[in-house]
Amino acid sequence: MARVVVVGAGVIGLTSALALEEAGHDVQVIAAAKGNSTTSAAAGAIWYPFKVGPPEKASVWAGTTLRWLTRLAKQSPEAGVDIVERTELAQDDRTPWWAPATPGLRKVESTDSKPLPNGARFGWKFEAPRCDPPVFLPWLESQLHCPIEIRRVLSLGALIAETNAGAVINCTGLGARTLTGDRELQAIYGQTVITAPGRIDLAHCLGDERDESRMFYAIPRRAEVVLGGCAELCPDDRPTTTTRAMTDAILSRAAAMGLEPGPVLRESAGLRPYRPSVRLERDPDEDRIIHNYGHGGSGFTLCRGCAEDVAALL
Ligand SMILES: Cc1cc2nc3c(=O)[nH]c(=O)nc-3n(C[C@H](O)[C@H](O)[C@H](O)COP(=O)(O)OP(=O)(O)OC[C@H]3O[C@@H](n4cnc5c(N)ncnc54)[C@H](O)[C@@H]3O)c2cc1C
Repeated sequence: MARVVVVGAGVIGLTSALALEEAGHDVQVIAAAKGNSTTSAAAGAIWYPFKVGPPEKASVWAGTTLRWLTRLAKQSPEAGVDIVERTELAQDDRTPWWAPATPGLRKVESTDSKPLPNGARFGWKFEAPRCDPPVFLPWLESQLHCPIEIRRVLSLGALIAETNAGAVINCTGLGARTLTGDRELQAIYGQTVITAPGRIDLAHCLGDERDESRMFYAIPRRAEVVLGGCAELCPDDRPTTTTRAMTDAILSRAAAMGLEPGPVLRESAGLRPYRPSVRLERDPDEDRIIHNYGHGGSGFTLCRGCAEDVAALL
């Protein structure tokens, strides 16, 4: 089995490293930062395909990840994954592209006796695994044999020469732009507001992306709720600071949904590493490099499916 270096310790790097170890490889993760300093820590982080492509592949990766996360929720509660019921409001009753990945998906229609929130006529209900990044990321790390080495990699080619690794897996998210010069990779800014539960049901998640300029989600965790959000294309050096205006907008959208969250605990923001297609392939010029980046708003939704494909490629 190969000695493999995984670059990146967000959800994509850590799940890739775990799948590779399970396949019997000798794995070392190297990352400029881990835990709270990654985009992954800023995520909601519920299973839901959003801002990701291409649909046919994303659907398969998402289906594999859904099964894996569901198993973790049942077998390893210490991983910080739980199953919640999600209601996704919809403009019309067309079946969503991610339906093939979602067993038990059912359409709901607004009625006078059971109206859907915010004037929606339709919605989709399904069981969705939700990760809690401050618990899940350290849990993934704890499953690995070698401690993560913290340092910035300046060149993937030089890293191969230096480590003599049989393979280097590039899981650097937005950092891949500098490492590979990939101009298709773009940053999409997102902000969340984390509140005490208040009167929000912690077994239920609500999402509404009918109008992307006013998108909304309420993702419950074990003792708090993540309210979001926004998806603004931006330069990848945009600071991940939060704004008061967006916090106020998110809280007023929550009120319009009929939700009554508790006090604001903190705010958070991050840059989604978006690409029209996730890049999961061997590098055309150096076949010891495998790329796995560009998961947009769906890193937690696709992580295991992509990790298994990386292991299969190796
Ligand atoms: C507000 C918000 C809400 C979100 N909600 C959800 C959700 O509900 N569900 C979902 O599935 N997804 C969600 N996402 C998207 C998800 O967070 C991302 O898709 C995911 O975090 C990408 O993971 P990653 O590991 O590729 O990148 P990152 O988490 O950014 O990790 C990249 C890693 O690479 C390292 N790195 C980068 N460059 C270098 C270098 N040169 N040398 C060494 N190391 C390097 C970094 O230090 C880091 O360790 C959300 C994102 C945001 C911002």
